[in-house]
Amino acid sequence: MGSWSDIADRVLAGKEFTREEALSVLTSPDVELLDVLGAAYKVRHHYHGNKVKIHVLENAMSGMCPEDCKFCSQSNISTGEVERYRLESKDDMVAAAKKAKAAGAYKYCIVTSTRGPSDPQLSTICAAVKEIKETVGIRVCTSLGILERHQAHQLKAAGVDRFNHNLESSERHFPEICSTHAYEDRVRTIGYVQEAGMESCCGGIVGMGEKDEDLVDLAFELRRLGVTSIPINFLNPRPGTPLGDQPLTDPKRCLKVLCMVRFANPSRDVRCAGGRERDLHGVIVKLGARAPAFHLCAMSSPTVIPRSDPRARHLLGVCLTLCCGFSIAEMVVFLVFGEMLGDGALHQILTQRHALYGLGKGSVPLAAAVGLLLHAGMAALMAAALQRMWLRNRKLALSMVLLIFVAFQGALVGLAIGKL
Ligand code: SF4
Repeated sequence: MGSWSDIADRVLAGKEFTREEALSVLTSPDVELLDVLGAAYKVRHHYHGNKVKIHVLENAMSGMCPEDCKFCSQSNISTGEVERYRLESKDDMVAAAKKAKAAGAYKYCIVTSTRGPSDPQLSTICAAVKEIKETVGIRVCTSLGILERHQAHQLKAAGVDRFNHNLESSERHFPEICSTHAYEDRVRTIGYVQEAGMESCCGGIVGMGEKDEDLVDLAFELRRLGVTSIPINFLNPRPGTPLGDQPLTDPKRCLKVLCMVRFANPSRDVRCAGGRERDLHGVIVKLGARAPAFHLCAMSSPTVIPRSDPRARHLLGVCLTLCCGFSIAEMVVFLVFGEMLGDGALHQILTQRHALYGLGKGSVPLAAAVGLLLHAGMAALMAAALQRMWLRNRKLALSMVLLIFVAFQGALVGLAIGKL
């Protein structure tokens, strides 16, 4: 075996990169790392120049997966904290695509945590993809789990450019990380994707207790399948998963793996994703990987809805309408029907409530304004506290809004009655 540069030259000349050479990249001494990286960069530059492509992922369904992948915080065996929500609406997916486009993304990827899509879910996603292709003008990828043949054709007809489904590891190591579906299911899905005419995006995860041979098997299987794009993820161990205590892969090993995958698949998009790319960012882009993937919502770590997100605004809107609406209604009752109320119980309660706001009898508009401010503040606090719950379970979040509101009003009325 010649120098690392010789390997790059042979790969560029279309000669075979052997399993032996692949193993030697992984076991190469750290002191040679810069040379290995330089050789991988030569190959990368030949095919891809210095460009990177930004992919934005939208986690369109989270935490509901019945599968038992040991690395995944969304699996049914994980006890880790993760948002749980059903499939987003078509409009939410289209809105996220617009944001991705505005952020300069090359591709927008709709990801769901599932064994595979149900037909109704697939219809929603296909409708969203059609609208995105017609109105947003961005390339679309989907990652929806195991597909049936007809589903792959449905996605292609809707306009999906690329489908992601990772092999995760070697065939030998796969049963160690998942028992609810087989390696073969994943290979078959990639076949359906290619047969339907979509680009295939397929890679794996490094750092799940696999051997060097497993990584080499994975790289060569991806070459055999002829996939278009290869995401290499470095395990970001999630608390609550069976692999939650797995040590982080050494950054030097991460780089060697990327170089090995690059030599084995010289012309393919090699992407680095899964969280660890943030640690390695400066180097990976220069060397092996071409297209880092960024997440709007991470698949693996819990997130709160950003305030700019339409869902957060929606939640704040519900809280504000409820709280401020009540204040306004209270003011209207007092001003318009005050005479009719006379000195009845309701009038007395309202008067006492105003006294609680520190205002005397008669200053109704001022009391209502103070009440409005108090309620708006309460609404903002409620919305902030419920942001995370809203992502997991909207009905529960709305029930909590109502419960907090009723409890707050009940306490005020209780205080007012106590003072009567
Ligand atoms: S990796 Fe995919 S299939 Fe496996 S548990 Fe996670 S979401 Fe489900």
